Amino acid sequence: MLADKDRIFTNLYGQGDWTLEGARARGAWVGTKEFIDAGRDWITNEVKASGLRGRGGAGFPTALKWTFMPKVNDGRPHYLLVNADESEPGTCKDRDILRHDPHHLVEGCLLAARAMDAHLAFIYVRGEFIRERQRLEAAVEQAYEAKLIGKDNIHGWDLDIIVHHGAGAYICGEETALMESLEGKKGQPRLKPPFPAGMGVYGNPTTVNNVESIAVVPEILRRSGAWFASIGRANNTGTKLMCVSGHVNKPATFEEAMGVTFEEIIEKHCGGIRGGWDNLLAVIPGGASVPCVPGEKMRNAVMDFDGLREVGSSLGTAAVIVMDKQTDIIKAIWRLSAFYKHESCGQCTPCREGTGWMMRVMERMVEGRAQKREIDMLFEVTKQIEGHTICALGDAAAWPIQGLIRNFRHVIEERIDQYTYSSTSDGAVPSIAAE
Ligand code: NAD
Ligand code: SF4
Repeated sequence: MLADKDRIFTNLYGQGDWTLEGARARGAWVGTKEFIDAGRDWITNEVKASGLRGRGGAGFPTALKWTFMPKVNDGRPHYLLVNADESEPGTCKDRDILRHDPHHLVEGCLLAARAMDAHLAFIYVRGEFIRERQRLEAAVEQAYEAKLIGKDNIHGWDLDIIVHHGAGAYICGEETALMESLEGKKGQPRLKPPFPAGMGVYGNPTTVNNVESIAVVPEILRRSGAWFASIGRANNTGTKLMCVSGHVNKPATFEEAMGVTFEEIIEKHCGGIRGGWDNLLAVIPGGASVPCVPGEKMRNAVMDFDGLREVGSSLGTAAVIVMDKQTDIIKAIWRLSAFYKHESCGQCTPCREGTGWMMRVMERMVEGRAQKREIDMLFEVTKQIEGHTICALGDAAAWPIQGLIRNFRHVIEERIDQYTYSSTSDGAVPSIAAE
């Protein structure tokens, strides 16, 4: 469990002053000039030593990503692009950083920009985050006024920050769609490679990082990479913001050590499962894009990248959605299917057609108006989508359904049995062919 002294986001609940003055009183902007003076390689090496992996969901090593930026200046400007388009269902951690601890992010932008030879950072904020964007803009303004950033600032590394407001499309959180949108185009993902470090915003070298990934950098440098790496376990280091929603007594966003168990976070931060542990049905542990895990498997699961892989899921954004035994699990996953169908940008066929197809079959599964052989057919369709699309939205639409079929097939079959029994007087199996 995370000791209080190791917390980075000490104003996560807004109990203190979010402004520059309050942030400084909590230790922000201390030693920043020394870190800038220590130079690009020193900052990158310290972040590398911390073992920090991207906090946006994919867990790509942050320092490694920074090293993809060109070392030799070819005349093109370098950009840092912070992804604050937090839209993954259940995820509300970056929102709390923007609201209550925005100076962690602003200071992190300066340090990360130094590590990548960038003098311009964009922060792309989710369309629905209006007050959060205003708060962030105010923090950026305070940093300009105090000459912490901007031209000829006291740190000796020029940096301008542009806060850009999105328009509310989930797909714009995908890094290449984010860049298209930032450039004023329709938010549709680009094919990768080229990765953003080679060809990013306006064709220039760009690194896209999540808000939390950048916001932890100042404290990593102040307390050392070794300190961050001492929390958690190898390959899964540091503190992590987690958001728990659903059927717990006290839904919460909190900072914890990587590697705590699911039971520990629920008991310590969320007041237990509604109706007790025997009432736990299933958990989606990493935002909507990952497979659900049955409750009995989840209780002792380790909340980090490797731990959740062991139970057949993924840490993702660490947005934990808890479902108790009163939940209609088929309907819950159908709802996610509807979400992905709605958010698909329509650019590639398996996703455009497949998300609608899956949603419609899931709709009938909710009612039990299906044939049992369709369960395998649906699974097969998810396999045709997974890995066959331009961006990860196709995978994200497929995985929750795969998790449902793997873990709760018996529930789908029971529903189909019930429908046949109560709906057809002659016992005939309802036929999709007749529709
Ligand atoms: P990804 O694995 O394709 O990429 C992760 C990052 O690593 C990217 O920045 C990418 O450019 C970089 N990268 C990967 N391979 C690389 C290579 N060979 N060379 C250079 N750079 C490389 O994943 P993704 O599509 O960016 O993200 C998927 C994740 O996003 C999912 O796991 C999901 O949990 C998460 N997600 C988060 C939100 C949110 O609101 N935070 C919303 C939707 C999805
Ligand atoms: Fe668009 Fe879906 Fe293809 Fe992603 S996978 S590019 S969202 S159609």
